[in-house]
Amino acid sequence: MRIDAISIFPEYLAPLELSLIGKARQEGLLDLRVHDLRTFTTDRHRTVDDTPYGGGAGMVMKPEPWAQALESVLDAVGPSNGHPPADNAAADGSSPVQSNRPPTLIVPSPAGEVFDQRMAHELASREHLVFACGRYEGIDDRLLDWASGQFDLRPVSLGDYVLNGGEVAVLAIVEAVGRLLPGVVGNPDSLVEESHADGLLEYPVYTKPSNWRGRDVPEALLSGNHAGIARYRREQQLIRTAARRPDLIARLDPDALTGVDVDALLQLGFEVQSGRVVRASGD
Ligand code: SAM
Repeated sequence: MRIDAISIFPEYLAPLELSLIGKARQEGLLDLRVHDLRTFTTDRHRTVDDTPYGGGAGMVMKPEPWAQALESVLDAVGPSNGHPPADNAAADGSSPVQSNRPPTLIVPSPAGEVFDQRMAHELASREHLVFACGRYEGIDDRLLDWASGQFDLRPVSLGDYVLNGGEVAVLAIVEAVGRLLPGVVGNPDSLVEESHADGLLEYPVYTKPSNWRGRDVPEALLSGNHAGIARYRREQQLIRTAARRPDLIARLDPDALTGVDVDALLQLGFEVQSGRVVRASGD
């Protein structure tokens, strides 16, 4: 996968050189490039923002430096119509990205679609992600209109709160997407059992010692009985999800639940009604 991230604070993205993502880059699983938006300005002060039309607080990012930056990314990877550039080499010396679909342009924004594990899987199937990190009051909206002609445009929010810039969203999204790419996480089984993989939160986990400060590891995990451990963990997933994220319980597909799940949910105050999991009425 190729990823380009454009920001006025490229240093903010230095953590992407660390840990599993850094290793994936070194091993060539991820071709990740960070660009300084100010490189694409033309004035002496390298201006990227100006006052908002209509008045109001704060500054707005000018569209032209963004268009220049995004065009340079497109030029670097070559056309996305299924045909590689004539000399089969990208302008910046990297491998051209050959795809039938345009690159996905992720514009972090509190006004975007909320990022979740489903979106992480979807983005992990793309060949080329481009991130445009806004600052100030955001980017002139005409840039998004222009970019939607060249990219698959995705305004994406990390959640219902406001950050100072899009860089934290890039760190979060690249980490969540990157670990889904083949070879990035050493044991692919760990992706199958974790939170959100099946619509539930992960069960609690424990390690040695079996007694720590007077607290025992649950007996079921010490039994060596694999079926019993699986049953215990599934029940714990349901208990934890019902307590912490009842909204996720309401989104479960009843057809994917076993009879044991349905019984456990009933104990937790949920029942299946008209093909949906709902809070039990209690009568
Ligand atoms: N005026 C904007 C609004 O109310 O929608 C907020 C601008 S915010 C101060 C500056 C930048 O931070 C945004 O352009 C976006 O790139 C980023 N940002 C802020 N909150 C975010 C969130 N919840 N998810 C993703 N990016 C966010």
